[in-house]
Amino acid sequence: MIKIGSDLMNEFEAFESKDIKLIPEMIRPPLASMQHYLCGECGKGYKWMANLRRHQRLECGKLPKHRCKICRREFYRRYELTNHYNTKHTIP
Ligand SMILES: [Zn+2]
Ligand SMILES: [Zn+2]
Repeated sequence: MIKIGSDLMNEFEAFESKDIKLIPEMIRPPLASMQHYLCGECGKGYKWMANLRRHQRLECGKLPKHRCKICRREFYRRYELTNHYNTKHTIP
């Protein structure tokens, strides 16, 4: 039952990691003005950070949405695909 503490730490780390990407206020579309927190992956907007975090943990990234056009491998996150593409399909 000491697990709770480490879970909290994991949550905190996830919050700090690039798993959560926020779109800077400047480039947000005007329509989303009521939605303070936008998911950097799919663009869904949320009024509360907690909802965005829940979305990113439970909804966003559940299904691989980013598919490599060359080898059709699927990735949960855009940066994973970018990374894959850069390492596998880019000739230096
Ligand atoms: Zn999302
Ligand atoms: Zn590929």
